[in-house]
Amino acid sequence: MRRINTENLLSYCLKRKKTLTASRTLVIKTLSRRKKPISAYELRDMINKDRDVKINISQIYRVLEFWIDLGLIHKISSINKFLLCTTPDEKHTHMLNFCTVCEKVFETCNKKMGLNFRKSTAKLNLAFNDTRSIEIPVICPKCS
Ligand SMILES: [Zn+2]
Ligand SMILES: [Zn+2]
Repeated sequence: MRRINTENLLSYCLKRKKTLTASRTLVIKTLSRRKKPISAYELRDMINKDRDVKINISQIYRVLEFWIDLGLIHKISSINKFLLCTTPDEKHTHMLNFCTVCEKVFETCNKKMGLNFRKSTAKLNLAFNDTRSIEIPVICPKCS
């Protein structure tokens, strides 16, 4: 998906037989305005700032989970923050290289990084689960 707009979101959901709701649209559109990962609480405050009907934190988490499952949002577990996936159509494993100083994320895929997790995990007699992204702590050029 090149641009996060209602039309694109709608067709993305339709293809996966999911429903696009007002809060799902609102959450992902708000998140897409930020370049860096943000927490669910920051997101909630951004959304509720100019709204009469407030969205609570558990609703935010539910919606985030929805988009994570559909592959449009990534969670950076170690800092418990969320950001938009830059390449949702990418079939390989999504690699989130995130700067531990400024939290900027450099997203790429395992193929481009020359990493074969299927092969490496098979050596341990484990089956690689490629439905989740992988985060790598890095220090970006600006912060080094
Ligand atoms: Zn991604
Ligand atoms: Zn940095």
